[in-house]
Amino acid sequence: MKIFDLHADLAEAIRPAYKDGRRSVLRNDWNERFKEGEISWTSAASFFAGRESWEEMQETVRMVKEDILSSGYELILTKEDLKEEPKETMFLMTVEGMCGIHDDPEGKIQWLYDQGNRIGSLEWNDQNDLATGNSGDPARGLTDLGKRAVRKMNELHMIVDVSHANEKTFWDILDTSTLPIIATHSNAKSLCTVERNLTNQQMRALANKGGLIGLNACNMFIDDDLVKQDARHLAKHARYMADLIGVEHVACGFDFGAYYTHKADYDLLAPEQAQNFIQGLRDEQFSEEEIKAIAYGNVMKFLNTYM
Ligand SMILES: [Zn+2]
Repeated sequence: MKIFDLHADLAEAIRPAYKDGRRSVLRNDWNERFKEGEISWTSAASFFAGRESWEEMQETVRMVKEDILSSGYELILTKEDLKEEPKETMFLMTVEGMCGIHDDPEGKIQWLYDQGNRIGSLEWNDQNDLATGNSGDPARGLTDLGKRAVRKMNELHMIVDVSHANEKTFWDILDTSTLPIIATHSNAKSLCTVERNLTNQQMRALANKGGLIGLNACNMFIDDDLVKQDARHLAKHARYMADLIGVEHVACGFDFGAYYTHKADYDLLAPEQAQNFIQGLRDEQFSEEEIKAIAYGNVMKFLNTYM
C-alpha cells in the first residue's frame, strides 16, 4: 500500500552527510528504503529546535531543497504536482519550528514559501517570538507576531502544523486560522499520556475544522507500556481516532527515528518498515478503502483542497 508520510526529519538525515562533503543523500542513502516501505510521497522537514537564527534556518532550507533536486526527485509545489501514481518518491517541503523569526513574519514566511515549503509549525517544543511549544509556559500561547504569521500562511495556503504547540497555542491557532490545520505527527493522549499527544477535545475541534492528524510512529508516543510500543499498537490509535472523529481525519506522520539520532528496537523505526503499520490497520479490521484513506487518500484530498 502506497503511503504519504506527513512528517520526516530529512534535514537531520542530510546534514551529517553534507558535513562530509557528500551530496544527493536522499538518492544514495534512502531511495531503496523508501521503495521497500512504499513511501510514495514524504514530507521533508527543516527542523529548528529553538536556538537557530534566521540565517541558519535559511541555510537548512536551502540544503534540503538542494538535496531533493540534486537527487533527481520531484517537489510537490502545487496541487497539479500531486501524482496519484508517482514513479518514485515525491517530496513536500515542510518547516518544523520558526524560532529564527523575530520580525517581519510576512516577509520571512513568504521566503519559506518561495523556497517550496507548504506546511509549517511556528514552534518546536520551544517558546519563541511566534508561539509556545510543549515545553514552554502553559499560560502562554500564540503571540501577536504569531497571529500575523498564521494570517500570512493562510493567505499563501501554507498549512499550519500544530503538532508541537502547547494547548494554549493549539487553541489560539485554531481560533486564528481561517484554513484547516494539521497535527502532522501526534497520537491520542487517551492511549498514551505523552505531553504532545492530543486530547479528545483537541481532536474533535481539529476535525470539526476539517483538519488532519498524522499518526506518529515514535515508540514513546505509542504506549506508556514499553512492550506495546510497536506498529500493531499504533494502529490502535488509528482505530481510536477513526471512531472518535472519523477515518477521514486520520493520516500518517511517522517521524521515523532512523532519520535522526533516535534509536530503539521495534518494528516501525525506519521507512522500510512502514508496511508493518498497514498490516496493523488490517489487524484492526479497517477495510481496504479505509486503509487507503489513512495511508494516503486523506492527505491527497486535503492538499488538493487547501494547498
Ligand atoms: Zn517533531
